[in-house]
Amino acid sequence: MAEIYSDEYWMRRAMDLAMQAQVQGEIPVGALLVADNKIIAEGYNLPITGHDPTAHAEIVALRRGGAQLKNYRLLNTTLYVTLEPCVMCAGAMIHSRIQRLVYGASDMKTGAAGSLIDILRHPGMNHQIEITGGVLGQECSTMLSAFFKQRREQHKELKKLKK
Ligand SMILES: [Zn+2]
Repeated sequence: MAEIYSDEYWMRRAMDLAMQAQVQGEIPVGALLVADNKIIAEGYNLPITGHDPTAHAEIVALRRGGAQLKNYRLLNTTLYVTLEPCVMCAGAMIHSRIQRLVYGASDMKTGAAGSLIDILRHPGMNHQIEITGGVLGQECSTMLSAFFKQRREQHKELKKLKK
């Protein structure tokens, strides 16, 4: 019988994907779409590399998920993402009809799953998504803050060199 994996298990995989974004100079956010205990599609942040403002990890995973399932409705799937989704990604999740969202770190500045605004649980929305936040939240948050800290230090070094 197949093993049933936990939310933490899939979030670790999403964190691995986030690291792949970081290697490419992108903000480290990773996402994956899971159904029946199997990965349907994966994605990580690629807006800079792809010259694409919409290439957030979640959008990449949803697009690939649709292609994989040959269906624009991603029914009975769970999306795992290391950071609370933004307004655009939350909108895409509603269009895609995913069943459940699991995210890691909360995003106080742009989070659309309750931190800044709650798009996903808006009472007027025609599709409701189950949400579990804060899965490996501390680790996901540390990964992001370490990235931004490192980037600030690199900018400082560059400025020094230019003087
Ligand atoms: Zn987004």
